[in-house]
Amino acid sequence: MIDLHTHSLFSDGVLVPSELVRRAVMKGYSVIAITDHADASNLDFTIPRVAAACRELSRRWKITALPGIELTHIPPETFGELTAQARALGAAIVVAHGETLVEPVHPGTNRAAIEARVDILAHPGMLTREEAVLAAKNGVYLEITSRKGHSLSNGHVARIAGETGAKLVIDTDTHEPGDLISDEFARSVLLGAGLGGDRIDAVFKNSAELATKAAAGLKQ
Ligand SMILES: [Zn+2]
Ligand SMILES: [Zn+2]
Repeated sequence: MIDLHTHSLFSDGVLVPSELVRRAVMKGYSVIAITDHADASNLDFTIPRVAAACRELSRRWKITALPGIELTHIPPETFGELTAQARALGAAIVVAHGETLVEPVHPGTNRAAIEARVDILAHPGMLTREEAVLAAKNGVYLEITSRKGHSLSNGHVARIAGETGAKLVIDTDTHEPGDLISDEFARSVLLGAGLGGDRIDAVFKNSAELATKAAAGLKQ
């Protein structure tokens, strides 16, 4: 299992990075990204601290822990600037908190995040075809999520991605230990989103490709 969207107690998750990563190891993960919620107030506080823990844990345990961030409920027009800041501070994965059906995310967030070339547009809700076309062109991965509420539009996201060539990843958006999943359960979530065997394998391949790129960026 490669999971590029999780939360620690640096935002609203309940575990310190070490316990989150430890539990991921026991769940059979090969890669986990810790992507706490952030806006202009806390990027500089969160990223270097999570990065320090990830460096240490990756060195000692059989897992790659990647420091990331989830830009959350920010004004859409600030995505470019905050994405650049996050990368400069050491975020290997930049996730955008997309226009989920279950929160009043500002309209235009999906498009602004794709234009800013974040790595993953999380829970994009009723993403439009034009947005998906742009995501494919800009190399932004669209997320299928196992998280309740956000997962309501998984079927729509999977269908639009299939029609436009946008690439999908699957993440858990873990906040608590029980949110981590096995790759078998991930497969069930993807089946439930309407994806068939070949496309499911492609999703796992996409996650591996993005994780490899992010880890390589860290070493430079
Ligand atoms: Zn989110
Ligand atoms: Zn999240």
